[in-house]
Amino acid sequence: MPELPEVETVRRQLHAALQGQTIQAVDLYLTGREVPAGPLFVAGVVGKTVESIDRRAKLLIWRFKGGSGFIGHLKMTGKFLLVPLDYTPAKHDRLKFITKSSAVIWNDVRKFGYVKAFANTTELESLLTSYGPEPLISSAEQLAACLLTPKTRLLKAALLDQTVIAGIGNIYADEACFLSGLRPTRRLSTLTAAQRLTIANKIKNVLSASLALNGTTSNNYLDVNGERGGFVNFLQVYGRAGEPCRTCSTPIKKITLAGRGTHYCPQCQK
Ligand SMILES: [Zn+2]
Repeated sequence: MPELPEVETVRRQLHAALQGQTIQAVDLYLTGREVPAGPLFVAGVVGKTVESIDRRAKLLIWRFKGGSGFIGHLKMTGKFLLVPLDYTPAKHDRLKFITKSSAVIWNDVRKFGYVKAFANTTELESLLTSYGPEPLISSAEQLAACLLTPKTRLLKAALLDQTVIAGIGNIYADEACFLSGLRPTRRLSTLTAAQRLTIANKIKNVLSASLALNGTTSNNYLDVNGERGGFVNFLQVYGRAGEPCRTCSTPIKKITLAGRGTHYCPQCQK
């Protein structure tokens, strides 16, 4: 699933392509994952001018002049792709947003993604209330304070919880734990203040480093130009089960934790 660096990459690219552009038409190919459904969603978008494309957690926020807009969640396999006006629809395309010079396709193979309209800022705010702090604009101290309770909670489970810290998913949770020398199975109560601060800093570092390379493509993720994220070559543990640790050569271990495949080095992480 795209996480903060991947969604932020898409946001930057969409913003650059769409800011100030008016959506002249919308083609709806596959209904069922837009709110409100079908023609009502389309009617709320056609004729609107894009003020900005923003992001909160893993959500993209399309803001229109006048205060309305919609949020989009890519979930497992959702993609926004920038295409030419003469583009021929492909399998799994759901929506096409057409501007004067180009078009944006929303494609989703697995169909877990969604778009949801909002009429004004108040409605938008009500869709965003449950998210924890944004890691790239919060201080390490602020993030560290989020990792105190509940005391018996496993570190990995806390990192995946969007109400604790927003935007982290399976890849960067595993990577941040490795970079901190902490096992994902550690309970929050066992972390010292220094360790909490370390992992907070490593979260910020790994997200920034990945963002600089347009994120990680480990399976499905592509940016709006159909390009892969370059950070995959720098992953230390995620997706490397059985391969030698880049630091100590011990095989990377994979377990299931909080329902998710979890990777760590049994030697480097305590
Ligand atoms: Zn190691």
